[in-house]
Amino acid sequence: MAVTDRHRSRLGFFPTPVAELTRLSSLLQGPRIFMKRDDLSGVGLGGNKVRKLEYLIGDALAAGADIIVTGGAAQSNHCRQTAAAAAMCGLGCHLALGGEAPAAFQGNLLLDRLLGAELHWCGSHRKGEEIPEICDELRKRGRNPYIVPYGGSNPIGAYGFVEAMRELSAQQKDGLPPFTHIVFASSSGGTHAGMLVGSSLFTSGCRLVGISIDKEDLQGDSLERCIIRLAAETAELAGHKKVFSEEELILCADYLGDGYGVVGAPEREALTLIARQEGILLDPVYTGRAMAGLLDMIRKKKMTQKDTVLFWHTGGTPALFAYGNDLFSPPGS
Ligand SMILES: *Cc1c(COP(=O)(O)O)cnc(C)c1O
Repeated sequence: MAVTDRHRSRLGFFPTPVAELTRLSSLLQGPRIFMKRDDLSGVGLGGNKVRKLEYLIGDALAAGADIIVTGGAAQSNHCRQTAAAAAMCGLGCHLALGGEAPAAFQGNLLLDRLLGAELHWCGSHRKGEEIPEICDELRKRGRNPYIVPYGGSNPIGAYGFVEAMRELSAQQKDGLPPFTHIVFASSSGGTHAGMLVGSSLFTSGCRLVGISIDKEDLQGDSLERCIIRLAAETAELAGHKKVFSEEELILCADYLGDGYGVVGAPEREALTLIARQEGILLDPVYTGRAMAGLLDMIRKKKMTQKDTVLFWHTGGTPALFAYGNDLFSPPGS
């Protein structure tokens, strides 16, 4: 079955703007650099998950669900955007979060509460492992839960990024230059998989460079294999016959640093450089790390003045408020 507009809930502000980062380009003496501002997609302070949620919530409403259940890390951007999307549509929202209830709610967590989500603390499980149990409990109470998987990364969610590539190709027809590379943070794989499918349909000839954020594999499978499989399933959903191979997938694992969510010197430099050169806020977990990767690749001349790069800002800025002084190097270091 192909996705139709019937299953789409219009939630966000699209198309998101694209801005050129001229000060950054001239500082680096590198390629022209543009930024796709999905941090401005609206819905609970925005981010890339809004694109997925338009189709996931659309599917939930079509299925007659009254409550959305998803999960992630305590500072999950995905959970915060899901809580906002559910509120917009009059649906309940339960979140399975990693860790324990903190004394002070900050960043995304503060917003989850403000948005009325019910929180379930799941200790070491930060990828929604407890979702089935929560749903069983809700069904016993006569509710009709709809599961949004970890990161919103199933074919329905990933389809949002097929449409994102259609949106980008329309912006290119309106005057943006063709891009040689699109660089973005890749974690649960839905963004990457949807872009692969959308790119083969709408923007061929441009390299998709995913920067891996998270060391851990997904349920024992490599992220590469997950992305390829999800891309195939998403293509099928889009009615597009296309096979993808691991060889054509670019997923860079050189920037994992000290692990998920740990801000090191490269992320710090990227966050402060983009804030001070361009007045744009990145996030400490995803876009800060992906931008650190882009800066490194430009400095190593993997991209030069002959190239035109699009950095996809996937959001996450509310997490800045949960990091406080960790965003800055200790004095004297
Ligand atoms: C979820 C997320 C990503 C990664 O998207 P996936 O589809 O999970 O790979 C990147 N950046 C931010 C800010 C995110 O919240």
